[in-house]
Amino acid sequence: MIRLAIQKSGRLSEDSLNLIRECGISFVSSTYKLKTEATNFPLEILFLRDDDIPGYVQDGVADLGIVGQNVLVEAGHPELEVEALGFSKCRLSLAIPRGANYTSVADLQGLNIATSYPEILGRYLAGEGVQAQLHTISGSVEIAPSIGLADAICDIVSSGSTLLGNGLREVETVFRSEAVLIATQNLSAEKQEILDQLRFRMQAVRRARR
Ligand code: ATP
Ligand code: ZN
Repeated sequence: MIRLAIQKSGRLSEDSLNLIRECGISFVSSTYKLKTEATNFPLEILFLRDDDIPGYVQDGVADLGIVGQNVLVEAGHPELEVEALGFSKCRLSLAIPRGANYTSVADLQGLNIATSYPEILGRYLAGEGVQAQLHTISGSVEIAPSIGLADAICDIVSSGSTLLGNGLREVETVFRSEAVLIATQNLSAEKQEILDQLRFRMQAVRRARR
């Protein structure tokens, strides 16, 4: 039996459950339960907050997880990724107030930037040779400039309509993300075999979708 952690409720949840079902794996899921066992595959599913998934997989509490690369890399565990899954595609972008002047990333020098992704943003800015003050906030990042909390933000963008609605303009893409399957390192031989079967099925599902 292998244990897979997926997001309990959020943007990854439905596509994660659909992928497992399309792999031919049957299970009963209820909104109250925090775990469920598949009936026709040696799999147990745990329902957790997405931010907790990399840590649980790193510690081996869960053998496998499905999480966004943005959360995985921010948590400092990119090495756990075993398979890109092709859904929940989004990007982490820098945005500034619509009226502000901008010609290049050097214009961010010395600014206050609000983000939920200080690790990823910090590495990006260091690579660009830009020094800025990062303010880590966990939600509603896009309102920070309008309330005077920051000069710029770095946040997840998919369509850009949230930015527009807050008077912001996207200026740089910092990171591109999609959902990925992650696995504990040094799985037992038995669990490794179950993982191999699961990956084989996931790859077949992706090929069939194209
Ligand atoms: P939780 O309550 O589990 O902590 P959350 O609010 O942190 O959830 P969600 O908003 O459900 O997270 O997003 C989960 C993941 O989905 C993100 O980390 C990202 O990888 C991806 N994602 C976020 N926004 C979008 C979007 N607009 N389009 C596509 N994928 C997105
Ligand atoms: Zn989260």
